[in-house]
Amino acid sequence: MSLLGKRVTERIKPSVITEMMILVKKHKAISLTAGEPSSEMYPVDLLRETIERALRDPGILSYYPLSTGITELREWIAEWMKEDGLLPQSYGGENVIMTNGSQDGLNLVSEAFIEPGDTVLVENPTYPEALLAFSKEGARFVSVPVDKDGPIIEEMERVLSQNKVKLFYTIVNFQNPSGCVTTEERKKRILELASRYGFLIIEDDPYRYLRYEGKHEGSYIGLAQDEDRVIYLGSFSKIIAPGIRCGYMIVPSKITSQMGELVLATKLSLPAFLQRATWELLRNIDMKAHLAKLADTYRTRRDALHRFLQGKAVPQGMTYDLPKGGFFIWARVPWLKDCFDFAKFAVLEEKVGVVPGAAFYPDVLTADRSTLRLSFAKVPPETAEEAGERLGRALARYKET
Ligand code: PMP
Repeated sequence: MSLLGKRVTERIKPSVITEMMILVKKHKAISLTAGEPSSEMYPVDLLRETIERALRDPGILSYYPLSTGITELREWIAEWMKEDGLLPQSYGGENVIMTNGSQDGLNLVSEAFIEPGDTVLVENPTYPEALLAFSKEGARFVSVPVDKDGPIIEEMERVLSQNKVKLFYTIVNFQNPSGCVTTEERKKRILELASRYGFLIIEDDPYRYLRYEGKHEGSYIGLAQDEDRVIYLGSFSKIIAPGIRCGYMIVPSKITSQMGELVLATKLSLPAFLQRATWELLRNIDMKAHLAKLADTYRTRRDALHRFLQGKAVPQGMTYDLPKGGFFIWARVPWLKDCFDFAKFAVLEEKVGVVPGAAFYPDVLTADRSTLRLSFAKVPPETAEEAGERLGRALARYKET
């Protein structure tokens, strides 16, 4: 029994990513850990202005607005997604439910759909904090490996023929951690499988707008049209700032009111003034230019880390595919037997922080312990050289131990 006296707390494990971030901070190491945007990229001046503007209407502080979020913002999001070809035409603002970031969306989905013992299909590897949200409700996991084009269909068919899956959780663009992008062709095949085996698809898409090359792939929610098979999770964390905790979920019309009741039961509503400020910001920012600036900055950072990894880390046997977007280089060092131990060694001995890749596997016992996740988002090119050198040195020294 947990100290807190509830079975639910026993199901939650500590977050390895958070532990690594704390260790890195304590030892003042260069951090390749956080899957967080770089603070110089936050539109702080515009946010200051729009918060001030939102507060000009004190009413925004004095009532509980709709639990699903303020109407203007929900409509803005629906329009934006439609222009991008992401949403079926029949969807509108009423299908948008505001969340406290995608993580909150994951929690709401879990609370709404998962009963203890239900089976959730996840990608292998996947985002561990999503596993926490599903575990909290008592989910058990089965998994499907991914390659650069997303989940491997034959493997997925095998798993589905052997398990009754309630929902499939997938990160469609620049997956955390592997960087893969699920192609439209695979999405169509997976939608067919969803109809055949009767499961729901949770399309988590926080990195969509951080694409540095190539064109967007169609979304599950757009491809499914009115099939009611998909819940889409979006977030402004990576493109505006994570601290505004502003995300959204797109749900089929038949469940919007029940989802609204669930939000009301758990938190009444989200901070309305922050939503108003976010809406003001979104309609005043030149979004195209802003996203282009983000893409330029992060592309440069990715390329710099890539260049400097070639110097000392790659000669130690490290391999990876360069991602076309997102924040992460997913690396393998075939001789590495215990990435957890190495990640600690790298911080303590060479002052460089990475996240052990095995933390991203739903089953620790079969996790690939030769993997590392390297985030370039917060590492400017002038620091990337030192990061690459330190990582190379850490690998060389660790090999000797
Ligand atoms: N999903 C994925 C795949 C993520 O990488 C993250 C953030 N690291 C989240 C969800 C949570 O993001 P948010 O800040 O929107 O809660």
